[in-house]
Parts: sequence; structure tokens; C-alpha cells
Amino acid sequence: MKLLMAGVVALSCLLIHVESFAADIPAKDRTVILVSLDGFPAWMWKDPSLPIPNLRRLAEEGVVAEAMTVSNPSITWINHTTMITGVEPRKHGVLFNGLLVRNGDQPPKVEPWRNREEMVHVPTLYDATTAAKLTSAEVDWVAVTNPKTITWSFPELPTKDNEIAKELIDAGEMTAEQIEWFKSKNPAWRDVIWTKAACHLIKTRKPNFLMFHLLNTDAINHGTGPGTSASFTAYAFADRLMGDLLQSIKDAGLQDKATVIVTTDHGFKKVKNVIYPNVAFRKAGLINANGAKVLNCEAYTMAQGGLAFVYVTDPNKKTKLLPQLRQLCGKLEGVSQVIDGEEGHKLGMPTPAENQGMGDLVLYAKDGYAFQTPVDREQEVEPSKTYLGTHGYPNTEADLDGIFLAWGYGIGKGKQLKRVTNLDIAPTIARLLNVEMPEMDGRVLTEVLAP
Ligand SMILES: [Zn+2]
Repeated sequence: MKLLMAGVVALSCLLIHVESFAADIPAKDRTVILVSLDGFPAWMWKDPSLPIPNLRRLAEEGVVAEAMTVSNPSITWINHTTMITGVEPRKHGVLFNGLLVRNGDQPPKVEPWRNREEMVHVPTLYDATTAAKLTSAEVDWVAVTNPKTITWSFPELPTKDNEIAKELIDAGEMTAEQIEWFKSKNPAWRDVIWTKAACHLIKTRKPNFLMFHLLNTDAINHGTGPGTSASFTAYAFADRLMGDLLQSIKDAGLQDKATVIVTTDHGFKKVKNVIYPNVAFRKAGLINANGAKVLNCEAYTMAQGGLAFVYVTDPNKKTKLLPQLRQLCGKLEGVSQVIDGEEGHKLGMPTPAENQGMGDLVLYAKDGYAFQTPVDREQEVEPSKTYLGTHGYPNTEADLDGIFLAWGYGIGKGKQLKRVTNLDIAPTIARLLNVEMPEMDGRVLTEVLAP
């Protein structure tokens, strides 16, 4: 009897070993899909009446967090870059939806289509997958102009000679004329085509790593405010498109080999009033303007919703002007904090000496207020009419928390976590794909992974 038992134990050990070995599919035969649904606050996910059946199923079958902390500034390109680098903006360098370029005594400019190397200062997940001889793809990802290490790209603004666009046209999914629509048509239409491109990539290329970004939710929340009927409908529509994406995984035969991480770049808050710091600067004689046109300026504000960066245009005048600007901004209705740019590290951001995009001052807005750039208004603060929601506020505010869920190959089942941070996404994906990244600020979410 004893001998027989020993035999059974030995056999079952052997079976377990064989089973786990068989489940260990090499990364080159798998796919990890990072989905960003732009501007999806954790507080809206928690509303059980939000009709998102595909996402709810993934959360039930996989792992979901109650909240995800995002990076400062809580803005789109910044946080998409955090997701794929695992480091704070202080290190990766992206502070705007583009590259901020200082411009003498003129207002600084934000240039979105600068090359990736100028904008992102550290290695990314797609660099790591290329180094590991794995394939990668992006659909509407950001800060990826001429990335060199992404295998297939269907960018935010595709062109007629884009390989994937040509194939979508040949397949009757869109027409050659519609390429121009990306610059002008509504974001729901663009989301549909970006989803078709992602599904096409999954079915025809089976990339080992896909970065996929949808934008309609952000546009609707800015226009109508988060939590409105239009806002609920936008998430329901994004969920419908997620259904298409999940179907394409099945169609590609990747059902048991795919990992899907669904997340977002930031939450959202409602806006009632807008603040124009540049109007205050004009009235103080720091901006010389002819109507809406700035002729020259000693100081200028670049607005990013709930946050604004103030720049002194001549570095030699910082010592003289910063005390005046601090006082001026601190007195403005709706301003909650005036922070010195030198203290950027406390916010996970660089100092102005480390990155020309960093403001000499950082302004945060109170609840219900957001910043805008016009110089030619009468009043410094006005009620907002068509801009009813935004982000950019400190990442410590619960409204800015985003969603996070993971599902599929290598992921635990039916687990709920309290909080993760978006710094942890890249280390976790690197582990899933078994690729090397340099030291990151985040950690591998071992509690998300299958035991
Ligand atoms: Zn965004």
C-alpha cells in the first residue's frame, strides 16, 4: 500500500510538471496587448450602471484594481510614455502632448510630431522587444514618431503609403479618400478605424507586443464633462470596440496565448470656470499683445487643463520676475497651488534646468476650475461653456485615478487589488514577455500574475 501511494504521488508530480511545462509558451508565440482607453476614471468604472460588458467580463475572469495612480502631469502623452517606460516623467522627459520648445521672447511652442528620440529620453518596451527579436506594433500610440524599433505602425494620422492602411483599403474596411478624415472627422469614426487596424494587425501579424489607444472617451469628456449621458455612452462605445478586439484574438487563434491589459492615461474632473493667467500677465505689462496675437512676452503660461506651466522667457530675468509671478498667480481666483519648478522632483517631474519643457512655476487649479491660454479676454476668470471636463490636476486627487485590469495568458484569475501605479505596467509587461529593461521606478505586479 505504501509503495502504491508513493507511486501515485510520483506520477501526479510528473503530471503537474508536464502540465506547467506545456503551458509555458515562449514569448515569440504569444501576444501582449496594452490597451489605453483615453481618460477612463476609476470613479466611473465603479458605477455599476456603466454598460461595459466586455470589460466587466475581462475583469471578472482576470485581475482588476480599484484604482491606478497616474503620473504628473496627469495628461495624455506623459502617461502613455510612463506606461511603456516604467519611469517617472522626470526621467522619460515627456511633459506635454508633444515637445515644448522655448522661443525667445515669443510664447513657447508645443511640437507633437518631433521624433521619438527628441521626446522620450529612456528605453521603451518596444525597444526591449526588438532587442529580444520579438515583434511590436502600435495603433494611435503617442510620442512614437519615427521610432525605429516598432515593427508595424498605424499612427494617429496614417498616410496613403502606410502598409496597414493599404491593406485596410484593399480589404474594403475604409477608402483611400478617408485617409484625410483622420485630420477632421469625429473621434468615434477614428476609433472605429483604429480598432479595425488593431484587429487586422492581430490577425495578420500576430505582434508579440501591441500598443493600442482609443481617444473618443477623452474628447467626449472634455466637451460634455465626465459622468454625463454622453460620457457614459462613450465608454459603452469603447467597450463595443473592445468586443471587436477580443473577437480578433479568437480569430487569430491566440485565445490561449494572448494577454490583454486594459488601462488609461488619467481620470477626469468636471469644469465650471476657466482661468486665463496670460490675461493677468498682459494686464501686469508682462505680455505685449495686439488682440489675440502676442507681440512679445517676459512671461507666458502654457495650460494643460488642471495644471499650467509658467515660463520666464528670458532666463536672466528669472530672479527678478519669479517673486512677482508667484504673487500674481497666487492671487488669481481658482488657483489652488503655485509650486516652484525647482521642486519638480517632488511631483515626479524634472527641474527647468533638466528639461526645457518644465515650467519655472507650476500652477494647479481648484475643483471646478481649469486653465486656458488666451491673452485677449477682459476678465482673468470666466464661466466655461464648451469645455466641461478636464485632467492635469495632481495625481494625488482620487478623481485622477485611472482603471487597470489584466486578463489572459500568465494572469491570475478572479482577483481584485486595491491600488496599482502606472509605473508598474512596463515592468509587468517586460516580465510577461521575458524581455530586459533597465532599472525602472515601478515594480513587477507579481500579484497580477498567475501563480
Ligand atoms: Zn488622455
